[in-house]
Amino acid sequence: MNIQDYKQNLLNELYAPFKDCTQCPLGTSGRSTVVFGEGDPNATLMFIGEGPGRDEDEQGRPFVGRSGRLLTRALEIAEIGRESVYITNIVKCRPPGNRTPLPNESGVCKRLLLFNQIKIIRPKIICTLGACALQELTGNTYQITKIRGTPLAHEAYTIIPTLHPAFVLRNPKAGKDLLDDVLKAVALSKNY
Ligand code: URA
Repeated sequence: MNIQDYKQNLLNELYAPFKDCTQCPLGTSGRSTVVFGEGDPNATLMFIGEGPGRDEDEQGRPFVGRSGRLLTRALEIAEIGRESVYITNIVKCRPPGNRTPLPNESGVCKRLLLFNQIKIIRPKIICTLGACALQELTGNTYQITKIRGTPLAHEAYTIIPTLHPAFVLRNPKAGKDLLDDVLKAVALSKNY
């Protein structure tokens, strides 16, 4: 069995018990799908957002709505397909009204799913999308507009923090920053 298949099996086994997860309040707050994540299970580059929105909740796939189209476009410009990276979120269930996940939600979901996804995939570069993902991964609070684009050594990988695509949709001038950071993350990931 090749490494991709081996890791995909591990990811499938990880996800299976949580397809209808109710381990945190988001499981019973109106979400329809647990959006686990998708992409290359052996990717050197992983993208982590905050949590599924309406489109993601409906389709069961991360970053497929307006924010997702922006991320996909940035990846196209970086000449890498979505299928060559791994894309997921801090929480796998849509928070009501797209609010930021609460600590009792993100804490449970990180422990049960995200940290295990990272252990299986072993990415070299993690590009965090928005302040929430960066804070949840590092435990530190940063001003995202200041820290974005700055590589941060963390555990077994390097974080490239960037803006959330939803922020860029509201502030189109920030599009160049998001693109620059994605280009940097892709370039760094190609060293491995
Ligand atoms: N916003 C996120 O943080 N994640 C998604 O999957 C979609 C929008």
